[in-house]
Amino acid sequence: MLAEIKGLNEECGIFGVWGHQDAAQLTYYGLHSLQHRGQEGTGIVVSDGKQLKGVKGEGLVTEIFNADRIAELTGTAAIGHVRYATAGGGGYENVQPLLFHSQTGSLALAHNGNLVNATSLKHQLETQGSIFQTSSDSEVLAHLIRRSGFPHMNDKVKNALSMLKGAYAYLIMTETELMVALDPHGLRPLSLGCLGDAYVVASETCAFDVVGAEYIRDIMPGELLIINENGLTSERFAVSTTKAICMMEYIYFSRPDSNIQGINVHTARKSLGKRMAIEAPIEADVVTGVPDSSISAAIGYAEESGIPYEMGLIKNKYVGRTFIQPSQTLREQGVKMKLSAVRGVVEGKRVVMVDDSIVRGTTSRRIVKMLKEAGATEVHVVISSPPIKNPCFYGIDTSSKEELIASDKSVEEIRQIIGADSLTFISTDGMLKALGQVDGTDGFCLGCFTGNYPTEIYPDTLQYYYQKG
Ligand code: SF4
Repeated sequence: MLAEIKGLNEECGIFGVWGHQDAAQLTYYGLHSLQHRGQEGTGIVVSDGKQLKGVKGEGLVTEIFNADRIAELTGTAAIGHVRYATAGGGGYENVQPLLFHSQTGSLALAHNGNLVNATSLKHQLETQGSIFQTSSDSEVLAHLIRRSGFPHMNDKVKNALSMLKGAYAYLIMTETELMVALDPHGLRPLSLGCLGDAYVVASETCAFDVVGAEYIRDIMPGELLIINENGLTSERFAVSTTKAICMMEYIYFSRPDSNIQGINVHTARKSLGKRMAIEAPIEADVVTGVPDSSISAAIGYAEESGIPYEMGLIKNKYVGRTFIQPSQTLREQGVKMKLSAVRGVVEGKRVVMVDDSIVRGTTSRRIVKMLKEAGATEVHVVISSPPIKNPCFYGIDTSSKEELIASDKSVEEIRQIIGADSLTFISTDGMLKALGQVDGTDGFCLGCFTGNYPTEIYPDTLQYYYQKG
């Protein structure tokens, strides 16, 4: 679905390069391919081996950077960030990478994810004299590194990381090193690639294809990669790690041409759609998917059921950022701007409409109405995720629990609200099987579906999420 109108938003994408003379330009292309992960702010910091220099701003990658600005960013290492602002709010100061200068050198940070103990760490650090530049949780790491008593940078960083709880994929750059860290559950995707002798790191592998890099491997939970003039070394900063990658990365957030933990996102979605055709067999004339993220699942449903796939809904790709606004009114107007039903396809037909998730239900209701107004005789809604009943604490803005329609409504109640002829969600078990998980839930975070989160959730975090609705 369309992230900005659905109320389910990714918070960030990160990209880094080490050892390439066009580091800033490659980062620009990498960030452009990660734009779906955040549209509110972006930045690039480069290192020429002696100093760090950055450009950032509120807007899309193509709005903030032009050829002149990129040309100013000379250096052979770079880190970049695209941001969707929720935790800590928006504003220029929260746009990343964050850049810090001190007498002992400079440090730049780019973070994807959300820390669940940021408030208590921040309180502790402020009591000890730290002054924060931003209201973002990401900055906590810089202060912890700075205050660490260890003499060497690697140990300072490992010590600081070990105090963080929650989801974090971090790129940390000094004048002479690029460090890459992933939380002990590996909640967010992060991959390593190479381009000749240079190393590249990205939230999604689609960024490697764009810059012509070769995929090497995914970063492991609890791993700290250190890249400098001596090459690449891998260290661990967490003794106990349990992989729990965000299931929604497969279902909705990541681009279909990305691979996460060896699984291609399009293939995963198609497999979820096939599973739905088994769990929810429906007598219908056409299958259609809500563009863009549900098309793969719709193709899977069509293939398994034998019902033809048709393009019953069209997305207008030329709607500007003006309509990417967090208010409910504008979100609702945005639906009309961005989606149209294809009368010639759906008129007089029984339609299976495949979508990836239902958050508030308002968007689903409008799309069902749109299909019926275009002449569909029946609209059967098939959802390729289980009901989202709980908020996410790890960097996905799923709204507060009160706003999640499935938190207190049955499937039948939701069906009536969205006006569908039938409504089926994939089962949790079916979803795991579709992703090749034959036994148990190991390897995935399912917190927003089941309420079982891979980390402890701190009281200050709970308070924030239950207040923000
Ligand atoms: S709670 Fe849901 S959205 Fe958040 S990380 Fe877990 S699976 Fe992803």
